[in-house]
Amino acid sequence: MIPAVLPTYARSELAFERGEGAYLITADGERYLDFAAGIAVNSLGHSHPHLVETLIEQGKKLWHTSNLYEIPEQTRLAERLVANTFADSVFFGNSGAEAGELAIKIVRKYHDDTGHPERYRIIGCQGAFHGRTLATLAAAGNEKYLKGYAPNVDGFDSVAFGNLNELRAAITPETAAIMVEPVQGEGGVRPGSIDYLKGLRAVADEFGLLLVFDEVQCGMGRTGKLFAHEWAGVTPDVMMVAKGLGGGFPVGAVLATENAVQGFAPGAHGSTFGGNPLAMAVSNAVLDVMLAPGFMATVDKNARILWNKLQALADRYPQVIAEVRGAGLLLGIKCVVPNGEMVDKLRAQKLLTVGAADNVVRLVPPLTIGTAEIDQAVAAIDAACRTWSA
Ligand code: PLP
Repeated sequence: MIPAVLPTYARSELAFERGEGAYLITADGERYLDFAAGIAVNSLGHSHPHLVETLIEQGKKLWHTSNLYEIPEQTRLAERLVANTFADSVFFGNSGAEAGELAIKIVRKYHDDTGHPERYRIIGCQGAFHGRTLATLAAAGNEKYLKGYAPNVDGFDSVAFGNLNELRAAITPETAAIMVEPVQGEGGVRPGSIDYLKGLRAVADEFGLLLVFDEVQCGMGRTGKLFAHEWAGVTPDVMMVAKGLGGGFPVGAVLATENAVQGFAPGAHGSTFGGNPLAMAVSNAVLDVMLAPGFMATVDKNARILWNKLQALADRYPQVIAEVRGAGLLLGIKCVVPNGEMVDKLRAQKLLTVGAADNVVRLVPPLTIGTAEIDQAVAAIDAACRTWSA
């Protein structure tokens, strides 16, 4: 008999009752160190006092009014995102996939508004993940996730991640944009090099394409800067954001330049829940913490400490770990052993991680971890590696 909950997830049997900082706690009091963080969502850990307080205060005042009316917290969040990024304007939705849908609509509308409706195709990258809607699945082109849902949405091409020559060769008069994760998350924690990201901008400029960065997973402080592309010193025209923006409260956003969204006017897009007072208040609280002086520097410092310790483990256990890769606190252990077994063994050591493609174990802890949590995680990974070496 089919379960009451549609069986779309291969879940572990663990259930948690509460969270404290970087820890998740079961009903019988077992504490797990959470280096999965809801897959890069709980950016400030669990039950962060400022977020909890903000949610409770907003919850007492107002949950939902609809975009029929002004939502002051929405305007404030948009203005803060604009002030701290390349963007001139922001649309709020509820998830990463929705952000992807709007990014695709912006690309098509831009070329339609500027007299080139024939330019509608978007070039994405192999190994990408942009969400589970029909268009975002087509954009990523992963056969495993598309299977059974034909016909696929038209208008997407795919090239190897990191390969500018292949990209240039794939551009046709119908090409409208390039859509890339600066650090591929689900695809196996693969960072685009600084030269690659700079090259993407140059190619987009040369061919009159919009550059869309999907920073749903790698954005919001995850790499030690507010957004990952900042490391390369280039900016996109459109950017998808979600996950860490709400620190656990569902929210998504598309940030864009004025040029990219020049044709947008009332009626061009919408969302019932997008930009609601609860999501906006919590996201503003997340920004309060992330924009405080020193926050990103601390993330960067801790990320480097974790990186070095993981490298030492990789050196010690070459028969278990093939490589450590990633950026900031979006790190991947490419395994020699099966990554699923590693995730299970780490869970047995009370460390929560998440698998990724290419036989990788992803470490995406809350950005608020300190050296004690790093040491605990490294000890757990060390212990798991030892079970293979014994
Ligand atoms: N884009 C990237 C890079 C992601 O990692 C994800 C989710 O993992 C998405 C988009 C989709 O986000 P959501 O699951 O909120 O729709």
